[in-house]
Amino acid sequence: MRPAILDPLFASVTVLPGIGSQLAKLFERLAGPLVVDLLWHLPSGIVDRRSSPPIKELQPDQIVTIAVRVEAHQPGRGPRPYRVICADATGRLTLTYFNVKGDYLARLLPVGAERVVSGRVEFYNGAPQIAHPDLVLRPDELDRLKPIEPVYPLTAGLVPRLVQRAVATALDRAPDLPEWIDPHLGERRIWPAWAEAVRRVHSPTSEADLSPTEPARERLAYDEVFASQLAVALVRALRRREQGRAIVGSGALTGRVEKGLGFALTGAQRMAIAEIAADMAQPRRMMRLLQGDVGSGKTVVALLAMLAAVENGGQAALMAPTEILARQHHATLQRHAAAAHVEIGLLTGREKGRARASMLASLASGLTPVVVGTHALLQPDVEFRDLALVVIDEQHRFGVEQRLALSAKGRDADTLLMSATPIPRTLMMTAYGDLDVSRLTEKPPGRRPVDTRTVALERLDDVVAAVGRALGQKAKVYWICPMVEESESADLAAAEERHRALAPLAPGRVGLVHGRMRAHDKDNAMAGFAGGEIDLLVATTVIEVGVDVPDATVMVIEHAERFGLAQLHQLRGRIGRGDKRSTCLLLYQSPLGAVAKRRLEILRETEDGFRIAEEDLRLRGAGEVLGTRQSGLPSLRLADLAAHEELIAIAHDDARLVLERDPQLESERGHALRVLLYLFRRDEAVQYLRAG
Ligand code: ADP
Ligand code: MG
Repeated sequence: MRPAILDPLFASVTVLPGIGSQLAKLFERLAGPLVVDLLWHLPSGIVDRRSSPPIKELQPDQIVTIAVRVEAHQPGRGPRPYRVICADATGRLTLTYFNVKGDYLARLLPVGAERVVSGRVEFYNGAPQIAHPDLVLRPDELDRLKPIEPVYPLTAGLVPRLVQRAVATALDRAPDLPEWIDPHLGERRIWPAWAEAVRRVHSPTSEADLSPTEPARERLAYDEVFASQLAVALVRALRRREQGRAIVGSGALTGRVEKGLGFALTGAQRMAIAEIAADMAQPRRMMRLLQGDVGSGKTVVALLAMLAAVENGGQAALMAPTEILARQHHATLQRHAAAAHVEIGLLTGREKGRARASMLASLASGLTPVVVGTHALLQPDVEFRDLALVVIDEQHRFGVEQRLALSAKGRDADTLLMSATPIPRTLMMTAYGDLDVSRLTEKPPGRRPVDTRTVALERLDDVVAAVGRALGQKAKVYWICPMVEESESADLAAAEERHRALAPLAPGRVGLVHGRMRAHDKDNAMAGFAGGEIDLLVATTVIEVGVDVPDATVMVIEHAERFGLAQLHQLRGRIGRGDKRSTCLLLYQSPLGAVAKRRLEILRETEDGFRIAEEDLRLRGAGEVLGTRQSGLPSLRLADLAAHEELIAIAHDDARLVLERDPQLESERGHALRVLLYLFRRDEAVQYLRAG
């Protein structure tokens, strides 16, 4: 149960004065449904109202606060605004209002009255005016004037004053909370206590106060990442206590397969295999992520792990997100496993009738030790005699439930997840902190670097001509069409148009794949490209990750500046897989901004996916590095992965240390940490603790 001390913050925003159900909807859209959400809605700027020059010295665009006397009202007509003429000893200032009732203004600004008005100065026909002043105060209300105000991000329907007031009343409800920060850390960083920190971040007095490294902001950011690291560490600790099975291979099969590979494993592959083997040998459930660029050789690593499970008397299953990937893995695994006479089964949506029934029977009896498949593996009638290892390729394409559903078909089965998306370390800790990780940072030898060039879109005709020449020399070419404002139908139109325009380059041999196609048609188009019937494949970004067409050597990416770096890197990973020279042309819309330019340069400089991901994170921030949708990242509201990289590492270590010393969070600090977990809605993590 959530500690009562947090109750005032976990109430609906409707408890705040002046917020009814209508406004609550807007606040929910802006920040979230609860009072605590308003506390996390941080100012993005400040308004400095301290300047109060005499009227004759007013400058355009200045924010000023001045004492005036109201001289006259000029009601508006038609498009003309309502004008209130004011003055000080040096000149006249007009206040203009559009669509505001005259009687309201007569009360607000009675003729002859003294008022203090504040707002942005504009000049109209050479005369100063303020349209819709932010503040109009009577002389006795001056205590309401804040010389420096926070500026909040807004949403349609919410004006600054409403948001400011709501946040201020939310702050009134912020209790003093017990301290969960390690005292040494807090002191070293001069972090204020929590309640003080939330107040401070909402009362910035200078631009510097908005910086992510300002101690109050930094503290709240730390709280957020600490809560997330702690939650993840709790889940991990729990899993480590769970019953698992110790799988120790005899080496009989893996030895033979390794000899038959026809190439030597890279150092990175050896290391990953050793890590996986050591993990499988532990009597607990393995949950390990194998990360490596496209082409880094994950499949072989997975095969050796699966064979270890087989040597141990168990079965293994590899699940891939698409039919074509499953078939490709099946072919590769079969080829390699033949040396050890291990049968590799295949089960996808296309296996039907007798073939499917016999595959199911042979999995249930244990006759087939290793199976590769798609979601089809998840069907309830798929049973194993003894599934010991589950491998999930392109793990982000599956939901957590799907991964669990497959391992539930085994008994305490180990899990190996694979991903070709290089994820920076900090992001890794936040997103997948509960996983153990092996990385393939080295590519198999003999791969030729891809010649990557950037070309302005104005030179599209030259590029088309060059592609035509390459096709004439029997090259296989990918042409990737841009994303158009996240809209799939617009993507499609662009891709279809490009397909039409490029079709004459290789009549009858230009294909098209896009996201709206049925899976089967997509597979066919890809298979045509792989098989040789198609030479030029126009595609939206749906082309399948990991699909192997080793003799493709040219890739053109239109509007490369619109893609994430990681995505560009992954796309490019599809060429340069064979032994021929490959070229990647990144077409960009000029002029390019400084950041965009730097991003494309990084791609030219390196093919190291991890480096690219780190740089991208630095340049663009987390959400963009992995499309947030596909990454399943917990969203961070206070911390900024790029700016607070160091904090994440500290929180990561601190969380593990805390749990080593106080696994059930029962000490005084432990109780404070429980409050922290609830504060950041990590309720599910607290459930892993014994009550108390
Ligand atoms: P990934 O799944 O990581 O994209 P794969 O496992 O499909 O990569 O490997 C890509 C290609 O490299 C395959 O053709 C594979 O046989 C080959 N390969 C894997 N490891 C090595 C190695 N150590 N030396 C040479 N070639 C390798
Ligand atoms: Mg692969």
